[in-house]
Amino acid sequence: MYEKDTIVANATPLIPSAVGIVRISGEKALQIGKKLFTLPEKVEERKAYYGKIKDRKGEIIDEGLLLFFKAPRSFTGEDVVEIYPHGSVPVIKKILQEAIYFGARFAQPGEFTKRAFLNGKIDLTQAEAIAELIEAKTERATKAAVNLLEGKLSKKVNQLREELMHLISLIEAEINFPEDVEEIDEETLKMSLKSVLKKIEELLKTYRKGEIIREGIKLAIVGRPNVGKSSLFNAFVGYERAIVSEFEGTTRDFLEESLSINGIPVKLLDTAGIRETENKVEKIGIEKALQKIEEADVVLFVFDLSSGITEEDMQIYEKIKNKNPIIVGNKLDLVLDKNNEKYYFNDVIPVSSKTLQNFDQLEEKILQKLNLLEEADTDIYINLRHYELLKKAKEVIERVLKDFEYLLSNKEILMLEISEAERALEEITGEITTEDILGNIFSKFCIGK
Ligand code: GDP
Ligand code: ZN
Repeated sequence: MYEKDTIVANATPLIPSAVGIVRISGEKALQIGKKLFTLPEKVEERKAYYGKIKDRKGEIIDEGLLLFFKAPRSFTGEDVVEIYPHGSVPVIKKILQEAIYFGARFAQPGEFTKRAFLNGKIDLTQAEAIAELIEAKTERATKAAVNLLEGKLSKKVNQLREELMHLISLIEAEINFPEDVEEIDEETLKMSLKSVLKKIEELLKTYRKGEIIREGIKLAIVGRPNVGKSSLFNAFVGYERAIVSEFEGTTRDFLEESLSINGIPVKLLDTAGIRETENKVEKIGIEKALQKIEEADVVLFVFDLSSGITEEDMQIYEKIKNKNPIIVGNKLDLVLDKNNEKYYFNDVIPVSSKTLQNFDQLEEKILQKLNLLEEADTDIYINLRHYELLKKAKEVIERVLKDFEYLLSNKEILMLEISEAERALEEITGEITTEDILGNIFSKFCIGK
């Protein structure tokens, strides 16, 4: 499948550091380890050896630890030697050079993980999880990557594959031995396909959410001038960044700021007051604002509780209501005594940007809107590659259900169709892959992983 040469790389992300890691994988790993390090004749696996690291002339480079992992009980499934010297740049460079001199080759990005995949230690979704884990910027993204690494997506996909393979075998038996086997019950077949379809659709839904968890929520604040957008923005961000003014319309363009709600990154956007205008400059600003709002995941529509809903509020609301905004009544502190206030909207979150009252409620509402409130423990989020393959499987099954009557009298075609859906699922876990797909996935890794 690949040349079994021995590869080496620095596995420490940051050097200088207290300790560095040089990882060697392949048939010659131990042999090279023995040249670089004073080791006993019989090296035990998974035991830390302490000693001097030497170059080809026997001169001491550093001292440190060495660990040996015997195939197949290693990350890559091959013999692996890990050397832990001090994390100095010249020391690590020297060890790499010497390992190459003794017969190793410098590893490509992701090559250790690729070998782990090719040796059947992990499937493709787990390999992707490792890249995701390394890149995760938030707690939530980390948790999701861990779930992927544990094989939670593979398990679901494999269950679906099994269901399809069961159907395929039934149809195949009927084609090959029409006298001996009973004809497939049409209703059962249809129900099975529908059940698989439903599960695929559920997985497909996790794509958008995964994107939000990995990349963050885009949150736009919209409303007429003076309702307190900038104040709300500042209250969120936690420090004064937007210019809060007593005069109308000071926030001409947009301000963007990043923050985090419950471990999820949020990109907050304060839009200029959207309203009808004859002024050309302002018109451009409005166009831009509307475009930004279109891109937002969640829109906060802000009005002023102390002045109530105005004509202008309604005009703006009309423009953005397709985004299904969260309605925020600001300046609660000014109307606290009038607690029977009747709002036009029946689902208003009253807040005060001045006293921060009800901000927790507002944050909860934002997460709820994106279905992000539930436990992260079960989170599975598919990536774009999974999405494309699941979509393909979905389309095939939909086609089968649509032409169901016809296919029942053409069982060979029916079998081919279901096999096509099954193969798309197989590609997710990497049962079948091409060099292109592998290259694409593993090139995104860092060296040493
Ligand atoms: P924007 O034009 O929508 O961005 O509104 P600003 O944030 O500039 O606020 C307009 C005015 O309302 C300023 O004088 C703020 O101090 C005031 N303001 C904003 N939020 C609140 C609030 O929650 N309570 C009170 N009492 N005043 C507020
Ligand atoms: Zn403002």
